[in-house]
Amino acid sequence: MTLPHPLARDLTRQLGPRKVLSTPGERRMYSYDAIQMGVVPVCVVLPESTQDVALAVKAARAAGLPVVGRGAASGLSGGAAPAEPSLVISFTRMTRLSIDAARREAHAQAGVVTLKVSDAARPHGLVYPPDPASFRTSTIGGNLAENAGGPMCFKYGVSGDYVRGLQFVDADGDIHDLTRDAYDLAGLLIGSEGTLGLITEATLRLSTPARYTRTLMSSFARVGDAADAVSRAIAAGAVPAKLEFMDRACVNAIEDYLNIGLPRAAGAVLLVDTDGDDLDTVQEELELVERACTSSGGEVRRAATDADAAALWQARRSVSPALGRIRPQRMNEDIVVPRSVLGEVVREIEALGQASGLKLVQFGHIGDGNLHPNILFDPRTESEEAVHALAHRIASVAIRHGGVLSGEHGIGSMKLPFMAEAVDPVTMSALWDAKHALDPQGRLNPGKVLPSPDGLGGAHD
Ligand SMILES: Cc1cc2nc3c(=O)[nH]c(=O)nc-3n(C[C@H](O)[C@H](O)[C@H](O)COP(=O)(O)OP(=O)(O)OC[C@H]3O[C@@H](n4cnc5c(N)ncnc54)[C@H](O)[C@@H]3O)c2cc1C
Repeated sequence: MTLPHPLARDLTRQLGPRKVLSTPGERRMYSYDAIQMGVVPVCVVLPESTQDVALAVKAARAAGLPVVGRGAASGLSGGAAPAEPSLVISFTRMTRLSIDAARREAHAQAGVVTLKVSDAARPHGLVYPPDPASFRTSTIGGNLAENAGGPMCFKYGVSGDYVRGLQFVDADGDIHDLTRDAYDLAGLLIGSEGTLGLITEATLRLSTPARYTRTLMSSFARVGDAADAVSRAIAAGAVPAKLEFMDRACVNAIEDYLNIGLPRAAGAVLLVDTDGDDLDTVQEELELVERACTSSGGEVRRAATDADAAALWQARRSVSPALGRIRPQRMNEDIVVPRSVLGEVVREIEALGQASGLKLVQFGHIGDGNLHPNILFDPRTESEEAVHALAHRIASVAIRHGGVLSGEHGIGSMKLPFMAEAVDPVTMSALWDAKHALDPQGRLNPGKVLPSPDGLGGAHD
């Protein structure tokens, strides 16, 4: 029988057995996220309050162990998968949520599931727009740590745009309450992937939903044509509420899964919503997008009913399960490139995929220039080296076109090897300065986001 780690015994004594998991089977369940296996943690804490989190961080510090925050583990860059033996703090029991309708605010503990914020706001005539496709499972803490986006991000912004205040526990176990003020420390915490502090609560801005929404789907012979249509529509002044792109392989994967009549022969498909409070303006904007699509060679189908529109968006949300049926693993990239080069970039990536012989699928929130080239593979029959080489070539395409490695999924451990190429040495040094200031001993989620000078994750002198 394996004896619990001394930290587990200490935390059980301080927090009680209900909040601590220490058996090998329990700990293993906290060693991975949606994409990557990590190191099995030495112990897991399930806090119910910020004070529990602070106490756990102090205990881990005394034991000389790193701390990894974990929400729903739906992350796609290995962020919540420990890189070394650690204490995992899982926020799933911190689910207190309240709505202040007069202030149009939600107060959410870190473990609140994203969709629940909108569910709670709706009776007050309010919504919480950030809508990652994982919103039925992902948590507010995870969303803020990754600065998650979603189909609505082009018009309505990403998770961080909705934060009015933040509470976090620092590397010493001290509690801070922040507003979006001078130096905007909250802004630094957002998107820092649990490497600068542990977010325990947030005050989130709510908005009123648009009265009217209209939806269209446009199919194109070639991926580049779809990307060109996006550049054209936006250049013409359209600001669609949602603007999503899927290539042929992606459309066919969804069609195999859902069988809802998507155009299998198309090289690529765009899904578009326009919305607003004035129906004429909403229709006019849809027509603007329609014209951009047809002038780029697209065929357009408007959603005739709400149910029709809902089915199209359900198709988009089903991308992940649909791809999971093709190969057991995938390397999920999350590049962002300037919209003016979208066509060129998707064409280049498609050609790289074809040349590699690996199965490559592209989709993404294209309105923001955000693309998710996914390499699908079976590690039993396909070379992981070849997968990494293709991932590297795709990252290089983004960097060469003035883009970045991550729009919303974070760097985690998966994109760490490409960071030195993507970030210039002066900026990298400034990022390390920020890390050292908030986490001098490197105890918060080590091995993520920032590469050490050898190009790998870990400490930096
Ligand atoms: C099917 C599917 C669809 C997805 N679609 C989208 C999408 O449309 N848009 C998008 O942006 N992402 C998407 N994702 C990725 C993922 O859902 C998001 O990154 C999400 O924000 C992660 O939330 P989580 O609660 O699961 O966090 P986790 O995966 O548990 O953690 C993610 C990172 O945040 C850190 N962390 C977690 N909680 C805290 C905290 N309280 N304080 C500090 N750090 C913390 C972790 O250490 C880790 O680095 C998708 C994932 C899946 C599986």
